[in-house]
Order: sequence, then structure tokens, then C-alpha cells
Amino acid sequence: MIVDTVIHARWIIPVEPESVTTAPSVYEYHALVIDGGRIIDLLPSDIARQKYQGTTTENLESHALLPGFVNSHTHAAMTLLRGIADDLHLMDWLQNHIWPLEQKWMSEAFVRDGTDLAIAEMILGGTTCFNDMYFFPEITAQQALHHGIRASVGLIVIDFPSIWAENSEAYIEKGLALHDQLSHHPLISTPFAPHAPYTVSDEPLSKVRTFADELELPVHMHVHETLHEVEQAQQATGQRPLQRLHELGLLSPSFIAVHMTQLTDDEIELVAETGAHIVHCPESNLKLASGFSPVAKCLAAGINVALGTDGAASNNDLDMLGEMRTAALLGKAIAGDASAIPAMTALRMATINGAKALGLDQEIGSLSIGKSADVIAIDLSQLETQPLYCPVSQIVYAASRQQVTDVWVAGKRLLKQRNLTTIDITDLKQKLDEWRQRLSA
Ligand SMILES: [Zn+2]
Repeated sequence: MIVDTVIHARWIIPVEPESVTTAPSVYEYHALVIDGGRIIDLLPSDIARQKYQGTTTENLESHALLPGFVNSHTHAAMTLLRGIADDLHLMDWLQNHIWPLEQKWMSEAFVRDGTDLAIAEMILGGTTCFNDMYFFPEITAQQALHHGIRASVGLIVIDFPSIWAENSEAYIEKGLALHDQLSHHPLISTPFAPHAPYTVSDEPLSKVRTFADELELPVHMHVHETLHEVEQAQQATGQRPLQRLHELGLLSPSFIAVHMTQLTDDEIELVAETGAHIVHCPESNLKLASGFSPVAKCLAAGINVALGTDGAASNNDLDMLGEMRTAALLGKAIAGDASAIPAMTALRMATINGAKALGLDQEIGSLSIGKSADVIAIDLSQLETQPLYCPVSQIVYAASRQQVTDVWVAGKRLLKQRNLTTIDITDLKQKLDEWRQRLSA
């Protein structure tokens, strides 16, 4: 049978959709067969050679093939602000640096070029899908489509005016129009993205809930990022933000709560009962000293926990391999238990759990027959990942993103032996230098 692509690999780690907490499934000397952008078979290489003839055939003799990483929370265009204001408290960082810079420089061109940088960086690091929250989401979607990466483009809602919209009503209206425009693109989904409990008031949040229910869209929001956020809300309203969101009817299996560093045992139970998802962003939380999300406790309670890098201004990279390692290490320290967040759990958080949080697990998150071929290859032959006893351990605890050699999204190759196929790096670097000069002036 003639098919588009056959990839033979030393190891294939499919990341089964249902939780496998003990030994991870790792197939050796198997092949992944792709046709029409979908995975149509996963079988031993010797049988694949008899059964399929690929228009393209790859022999990855020292590589592990796995589902592409799902970066479940980022602000792609903020790559332009990488390193411009470091080592500051969250509110100082936001109010005195990031927000004024955004106020001054925010434009379609800013979002376009920043998103291009983010997409290039993410593809080079094995991310095949990102969940974004930023101004000009139409530009983010346009660039994602242009470069062939999958994106969940948040329809941002915030009380204060920006160059993109003058008030929360306008944000919602523009978001709805954008959702209509983009709903036919298979690579793009459009969750609502109200910024945070402290920046979006009850009325727009109720509207978001109504529209999200009607259109069956997820709701993506920063929640309980810091102790300060929770204490301020308690002083002002007598209520913790999570309780307020619950009373507004937002907590449900389509709610994506980002950060969640402040959680009581009752709140963990509430999140588990409502089926809401948590996106853990350990490096951003560490850099801004926001707090520690009790990930092991949340997982034990049955909550789906995914992983995100957050924006490059608070991380400062969009490296999901690094984020996985930090999540595993930090999770152990917080739990006081070295067996917490084993390597396979961290890998699940970076792949299938992200797909579940975004409502895309029927389509991506594992190398399963019928799913979209969003696939990455990591070369494990380098000294840094030798000797090799267990590929999952090497990937989570030792590999660097430079070892990601190839990336496919919906069967299309976006990275070929470390070369980006849809992005001109020389041209991008030129634009970045111009932004550096403007922003640092
Ligand atoms: Zn964020």
C-alpha cells in the first residue's frame, strides 16, 4: 500500500491516552505510518516494510518518536520582551515594566514578529501545539496557519482598554467574530481567554460563560497565580477568586486554570469534582516567586494537570523539555517524595494532558491510530543521553531541546534535521534586531 510517510524509529513512545502509571509503553524498532495527515498504523518495522511503501521514508536509527509537546499556556508574542525586565516581583514586573511597554508598542506587527519568534522556538523544541492568550489573536492565528503549527488561540477578555479593544464588551464581540472566522481551520481552535480574576469583572465573566457554553468552547484563565492575588480578593470581597469563579458557573471540564499555586485541600477537591483542568507553569512560578503548585496532590485527587511555559518574558524560554524536567524535579521537592511525578507522568503532562485540557485529545496528544500526525523525533545518540537504559528517563531528565531533530504537524514536516521548513531565520533575526533597538530606546 502506498502512503505519504513511513517513519522507522529505534523507539516509539506513543503515550497512551489512558493513564499507564507503571512501566511506560516503549516500542522498539517500530514504524509509524502517516497518510493524509493522520496516523494510520504503528507496527514492527520489518512488517511495515512489507506492508507499506512511503512516498517519503525516514530511518531514524537512534531516535525516539513521540507525540509533539502541547504548550498549554503561553503568550507567544511576548518573546519580544524576553529579558527586558528580569528579577522583579510579579506586580512590579507587570505594572511598571510589561504593561507600559505593551501600551507603547503593541501593534499587529509586534504580535506578528513576536509570534513568529515563538513559533520558530517552539518548533525547534518539539512543541506542535500551543495555547495562547494575547492581544490581536487574529494575527497569532494567521501566523500559526502560515507556519503550519497547531494553535489554540485565546479570545482575550480584560476589563481595561487596549489598542485591540476598548472595553470588555468589545473584546467579547471581537472574539466571537474571530471564532466564526476561524472555526473551519483544522489547526486552530478558539477558547475564551479572560485574563485573570483580578482583571475581569463579574459581568463579562458571566457573558464568557454563556457564550462558551453555547459554542462549546474552553475557557482559559490565570487563576490563583500568587498569594497576593488571593489575599487582595479576600480583602476586597471576602472571597477567594476560585470560589467566585465557581459561583459564576465557570468551573467545569472546559475550564483551564493556569498556575494555581494557592490551593487549599477543599479547593483541590472542588477542582477535581468540577472536572476543571490545571496548567502548571513551574518555571514562570519560580522566576516570579509566585508560589508552588501542589501538583502531586492535584494528580492524586484525579485532576488533569497539563504543562505550560507561560510567556518568554517570565521564563525566559519556550522549552517544553526543560519545563517537563522542572515540573518533575519541583513536584518531588514540594511533595517531599522522590517518587512523585515520575518521568512518564511529566511526559504525559506535556502531551496528552495538555491535549485533554484544550479539548483536543480526540485529535492529538498521543501517537494513536486515527489521530493527527503531530509527531516529533528526538536523537538520543548524543553523549548527554548515554548510556541509554530507558528512553523516557533520558528524554525527561537529560535530553536538551537541541536533540529534537524532526517535527511534523498534521503530517507536514515543519522541522527537517534541525532545519525549519516554513520560517526564514535570517529574515526573522533582522526583524528581531529592529525590535530590540526600538524597545530598548
Ligand atoms: Zn500567563
